[in-house]
Amino acid sequence: MTVEPDVPDRIAPKRLYVVGDPGHYWLAVMKCPCGCDSDIQLPLSGNDWPRWSVDGADSAPTLRPSIHRTTGCRSHFLLRRGKVVWCR
Ligand SMILES: [Zn+2]
Repeated sequence: MTVEPDVPDRIAPKRLYVVGDPGHYWLAVMKCPCGCDSDIQLPLSGNDWPRWSVDGADSAPTLRPSIHRTTGCRSHFLLRRGKVVWCR
């Protein structure tokens, strides 16, 4: 997991970016792990729903709840301790 002050221009695969200040992250960004090359943005703060939380070590972050894309590849997966777990 990489902390960025702003949304990164280039998203590398297999990497989770969190945007904000340490302790005050507002967005998580990652490439879809299915290989479709889509960028996924997940709000981490505010009153938007759905909203995700990230915890765990920087090297092995956990995102809750699961990520279920409603467009494109429609992937449904968890990020648990840095590993993608597919939901089927
Ligand atoms: Zn995908």
